[in-house]
Amino acid sequence: MTPAHLDDLALRESAFAWLRLQMLTKEGLSRNDLARFPFAGRTFRLTGTQTGIWRIRASSDAAISILTAYAPVGARRPYDDTVGADGLLRYKWRGDDPLLADNVWLRRAMERQLPLIWFIGIGYAPGSKIQLFRPEFPVYLTAEEPERRQFVVAVDGQEAAPAGADAHVIDITRKYNERIARVRVHQPMFRSAVLAAYERRCAVCRLPFAELLDAAHIKSDAEGGAARVSNGLALCKIHHGAFDSNIIGIAPDFVVHVRESVLATVDGPTLQHAIKEMAGQRLRQVPDRRSERPDRELLAERFERFRNAS
Ligand SMILES: [Zn+2]
Repeated sequence: MTPAHLDDLALRESAFAWLRLQMLTKEGLSRNDLARFPFAGRTFRLTGTQTGIWRIRASSDAAISILTAYAPVGARRPYDDTVGADGLLRYKWRGDDPLLADNVWLRRAMERQLPLIWFIGIGYAPGSKIQLFRPEFPVYLTAEEPERRQFVVAVDGQEAAPAGADAHVIDITRKYNERIARVRVHQPMFRSAVLAAYERRCAVCRLPFAELLDAAHIKSDAEGGAARVSNGLALCKIHHGAFDSNIIGIAPDFVVHVRESVLATVDGPTLQHAIKEMAGQRLRQVPDRRSERPDRELLAERFERFRNAS
């Protein structure tokens, strides 16, 4: 029996509101940050110190959060491997014992249709080995696949096709779910991972306002560019626009080039300082980790296009 006495749903709602607030000023939260959730005059952890599945004993005998560690660069992201034919994501059991406490907590959350938090690793705090996570919530466990030792996870807005639906409906549902996953999970993950790696500064000018920063792709999604940090650049709105329209190019040695015709133009301070003075400068902000720095081959491919355009 559970010693729960706090209102489980109220605690979950309050945790969502608290996380929303934390994410206004950060790209990711550490396990330490997540140990400081205040509720009903007490402080709770929203994740364990080691494990992926967590529940708060004082409020529930069902899980409140699941966690996926940051995947090393080059490895496929955990969610890449785990999308089912229904377009929904999957989360693995802990170990292979269905009756392990962590797996039982998940099953209870599924049976009661409780909203959970999914913490997805996006990288490391600058200069450290401390992992950072981006919370996705609410998510729901909609089914269990014991033969594969996993649960089916729906992010808010996703749903399974109705039982017995015909192939056409299943296909539409899958596409719809994939779209939601892209918009709700993959794109924000890419942005958070890139901005965290660049310490929330523009690679070209070091502008430090996250509101004015984008995670630009070196090789675009549409051309098959991967959603990993080494295919990204944190760029302010001006430099993102300038990069995408080949006003500036970034060579494989990380040196910024400016289109000749633009260099020849004389205009006000924005053109002078924000664009022309960047010519010949190396990127001023790059990730700590070599493996997260811009991929030189992808830059070379892209730089070729800049050359041809100018
Ligand atoms: Zn900039």
